[in-house]
Amino acid sequence: MGPPGGGKGTQAEILSEKLSIPHISTGAIIRNAIREKTQLGIVAEGYIEKGQLVPDDLVIDMVSHRLSQKDCENGYILDGFPRTLPQASAMDKIGIKLDAALNLVVADEVIVKRLAGRRECKRCAAPYHIDFNPPKVDGVCDKCGGELITREDDVPETIRQRLDVYHQQTEPLIGFYKEKELLVNVQGRDTIEETTMAVLDALGVKC
Ligand code: ADP
Ligand code: ADP
Ligand code: ZN
Repeated sequence: MGPPGGGKGTQAEILSEKLSIPHISTGAIIRNAIREKTQLGIVAEGYIEKGQLVPDDLVIDMVSHRLSQKDCENGYILDGFPRTLPQASAMDKIGIKLDAALNLVVADEVIVKRLAGRRECKRCAAPYHIDFNPPKVDGVCDKCGGELITREDDVPETIRQRLDVYHQQTEPLIGFYKEKELLVNVQGRDTIEETTMAVLDALGVKC
């Protein structure tokens, strides 16, 4: 968990490599569905471009389908899900058990700066930043050679809307997971590497 631009995707990608389990980003799945013009994509597009959340029932179906695939057998890292209390309750009902709910704590002022420089691989969704995590070759993904793009929702007005949505609809999950004794808070740092060290330490992952 964490605010938009807090570093969830970046840290999830690193953890996924270290632990050899899939990184499941609901945002990336939705953006892919939009590009492929699937039924989910067509409905989701209107929400995502306004900085609003996609309706719970659609996202819950999408995640339960994804988690039933074979590569999830030995665990997975959820990034950007659950994002509302109904999504968290649905997860409990389906029987999905979490080991930890990692919360990246990052202030709103930091977010706006970070998201302006974010780039994402169009093909594999790997995250980059023009200053803090640049690719080896401008505009090209290090991992798959795909084209790097700026997300349409990473514009100042939509960023502010997403931060409002985060505070209203997602932040209550912090209390929800604290009560379940699953909450692990990690203070976001100025660099990706320092944040990774804090995340690994908090989760007790040896590297
Ligand atoms: P989220 O998935 O939470 O929206 P990302 O992982 O995509 O966030 O990170 C947002 C942007 O900030 C990306 O461009 C990423 O490269 C950059 N970034 C992530 N973590 C840090 C950090 N600790 N310091 C500086 N930049 C970061
Ligand atoms: P960020 O954390 O930077 O906002 P994401 O890729 O996680 O980026 O999400 C981008 C957008 O995708 C959200 O603003 C929302 O519209 C949609 N989305 C992603 N995950 C969910 C979810 N669990 N529930 C509803 N909408 C979601
Ligand atoms: Zn790529």
